[in-house]
Order: sequence, then C-alpha cells, then structure tokens
Amino acid sequence: MYDVIVIGSGPAGISASIYLKRAQKNVCIITDGNSALKKTNKIENYYGVEPISGEELYNIGIKQAKNLEIPIEKDEVTNISFEKNFIVRTVNSEYEARYVIIATGTNRAAPKVKGIKEFEGKGISYCAICDGFFYKDKNVAVVGSGNYAIHEAEILKLITNSVTILTNGQKMIENRAASDFEVDETPIREFRGDNVIKEVEFENNSTREIDGVFIAIGTASSVDLARKIGAVIKGNNIVTNENMQTTVRGLYACGDCTGGLLQVNKAVYEGAIAALDIIKNINLS
Ligand SMILES: Cc1cc2nc3c(=O)[nH]c(=O)nc-3n(C[C@H](O)[C@H](O)[C@H](O)COP(=O)(O)OP(=O)(O)OC[C@H]3O[C@@H](n4cnc5c(N)ncnc54)[C@H](O)[C@@H]3O)c2cc1C
Repeated sequence: MYDVIVIGSGPAGISASIYLKRAQKNVCIITDGNSALKKTNKIENYYGVEPISGEELYNIGIKQAKNLEIPIEKDEVTNISFEKNFIVRTVNSEYEARYVIIATGTNRAAPKVKGIKEFEGKGISYCAICDGFFYKDKNVAVVGSGNYAIHEAEILKLITNSVTILTNGQKMIENRAASDFEVDETPIREFRGDNVIKEVEFENNSTREIDGVFIAIGTASSVDLARKIGAVIKGNNIVTNENMQTTVRGLYACGDCTGGLLQVNKAVYEGAIAALDIIKNINLS
C-alpha cells in the first residue's frame, strides 16, 4: 500500500510527487504518459527556463522523478473508489493508498454530436457507476472506443438488459474484454427523443432504439474520476479548498483539472500545496 498515489505525470503530478518523496512519503505516480505539455511547441514564460519545447520540459519532469526513485506506473486509471483506503483501478491492475492526488489535466470536449448537450441528464450520462442503476433492465449504449469505454460497459452489463458500444467512426481497441460486447463503428449523426432520449441515428441513415447513452471517450478525465467517487465538480473543474482538498476526505486535485489559470506555474504551485497538506496530515496521524 502507498501513502499517496498521484495520477498524472504533468507539471502538477510531478511537482506533488517530488515534495512527497523528499518528505520520505511512499508515493507512486500512475500515468498514461500524455500531458498538455506535449501539445506545446514552445514554453517561454516559465521562470528560470530558457525557451523549451513542451515535450522537453515534460521529459525533464519525468527524469527528476526518476532521479528521486519515485515509481512511475505506465497505465490508464479507470476508477477511484474508497473502501478502508483508496482503491485506484487501472486497465492492468489495482493500487491501494491512504491519499490520492488527481493531477490529470483538463479534459477534452465531448464528441460534437447533435443531441448530446440537449439530453444531458435526460438519457445522456458520463458515469456508469453513478447513473447505471437508472437503466436497470434497459438497453443502453456506451460511446467510446478504448479501455475506458469497456470499463463503463462492464459496469453497465451487470445492471442493464443490453450494452452496445458505439465508436462513432473510430476503430475499437482490440482486446479480449471488447469482444464481450456488440460494437458498432458507424459514425453517429444524432441522438433523438422527446423528454428523454429514444434513439440514435447514424450517418448511414440507420437508427437504433436506446434508453440511455454513456459517454466514455478516450481515457477517464479528471472530472470523470472525481464524479465517480462523489467529489463535487463545477462545470469542467474539480472543486477544492485552499489546500487542494476535494470534497472527498483524502482526495486532492491540482493543476489544470481545478480550472483557473491553465499554466505550468499554477500546476506546479498547486501540486506543491496538495503535497504539503498531505505531508502535514500524515505526520500528525
Ligand atoms: C497548445 C498549448 C500551449 C500551451 N502553452 C503554455 C505556455 O506557453 N506556458 C504555460 O505555462 N503553459 C502552457 N500550456 C498549458 C500547460 O501545458 C498546462 O497548464 C500544464 O501542462 C498543466 O499541467 P497538469 O499537470 O495539470 O496537466 P497535464 O500536463 O495535462 O498532465 C496530465 C497528466 O495526467 C495523465 N492522465 C490523464 N488522464 C489519465 C488517466 N485516466 N489515467 C492515467 N493518467 C492520466 C496524463 O497522461 C498526464 O501525465 C499550454 C497548453 C497547450 C495545450
């Protein structure tokens, strides 16, 4: 078991991990290896660093963590839950920790399909564990094509009558778990209904009746992860107090996922604040 699991290896996650490790805490980083930094051609507004590519800055952060012998697990987190401790579930494993820091950056836009915004809360959901129960014995779809979509489909399979994965024109990831589900790769034109969602229409003019749709594109975003464990979110951001604690005890969030200034400076600062608060709490316990 770890003292702290940090999800994310961008500026926020690495900063938090460095403080934790230097305070002798047993910390592990889990990351799928991406970062907003990797989309950045040049950073020239970070104190003390001459113009540098985002990728280079990211790699320096990883090297810093490795130099301190902080374990970095390359994996995709699909869920965080709490039993006696936090359980962080990934595609390949499960980890236990007393504290968790979400430093997973800000998430991408939902797919631009007509009807998604309109039917949010009326059949369109972003969380199987939160809303799956409302679709007991109904026919639902998961929109996505990766491990996260499969994770959501697996939860829904236990509750609903049927689960179809709609990839919206993407190629479905190839693995054994995916073969448990009907997968439709046809591009989606629109979700339709009256008060609630009723059907999906595809670009080839075919339709499919559906009672509920769960959006699970790409990897689980910070908001997806926070929502599943019951932390309060506001818009696209995780709500925290001044110590970067979320509304769930022991769960912290820092960096782009908390909103505000989406810059390296702020991510590094918030990572440090989260780590220092956890260090204080562990030392007091
Ligand atoms: C085009 C562009 C230009 C920019 N230019 C600047 C600039 O000039 N100056 C500046 O200061 N900032 C700039 N930024 C912003 C800066 O890159 C971000 O503010 C910063 O990277 C945020 O750090 P973070 O650690 O919060 O998130 P990120 O750097 O995005 O890191 C998120 C981490 O979480 C991991 N992760 C996410 N989901 C999962 C999951 N489910 N499982 C496992 N791991 C996961 C990712 O792999 C990644 O390691 C720019 C951003 C962009 C997109």
